[in-house]
Amino acid sequence: MGHRLLLGVFFIALFCSPVHAEIHYTFPVQPSGSASFSRGGHRYPGIDIFCKKGAVFVSPVSGTVEDAQKEDIWDRNVNGPENKGGRWVSVAGDDGYRYYGSHLERIADGIYIGKKVKPGDVLGYIGNSGNSKGSPIHLHFGISRVSRPYSWKVRKGEIEPYFFLQCIRSNKCDPKKTLDGYANKGQ
Ligand SMILES: [Zn+2]
Repeated sequence: MGHRLLLGVFFIALFCSPVHAEIHYTFPVQPSGSASFSRGGHRYPGIDIFCKKGAVFVSPVSGTVEDAQKEDIWDRNVNGPENKGGRWVSVAGDDGYRYYGSHLERIADGIYIGKKVKPGDVLGYIGNSGNSKGSPIHLHFGISRVSRPYSWKVRKGEIEPYFFLQCIRSNKCDPKKTLDGYANKGQ
């Protein structure tokens, strides 16, 4: 009787214990096979992911659309830093990080501020908006902390994305751990 009770308690404990929800990541440019990126290229931690025309920017993780700039108001003569990205979308990820992708040709239908997204949901079509006019097609990809105030200086990238992207691609390491490592170092 005592053993059964113990066994019962054990199973109740097993099934009621909070299971650490696993976070799934998707490479932010699809199809990912034709996308390429390297370290550097900016004076801050942001990365250009080069791709073919027709490639899409997808949410790397589940989260909520935090910002979506649908009009390209960048003006070469003014060159305002807040408009350099042209058209962009940023997602506040459920993992605590903000993901920003810019130089979009257009924002995907049905994407609006406050929309819940899953990893792989299409956010926009990659093009040459903002100050990328005339450059090879690429997505400017930046990672920042959701806890940090939203501004162009933050959203363009404050945490090195290179190893995060490598992790997703190789499937051999934990993408979130690489971000946590950088975030803890204060980068
Ligand atoms: Zn860039």
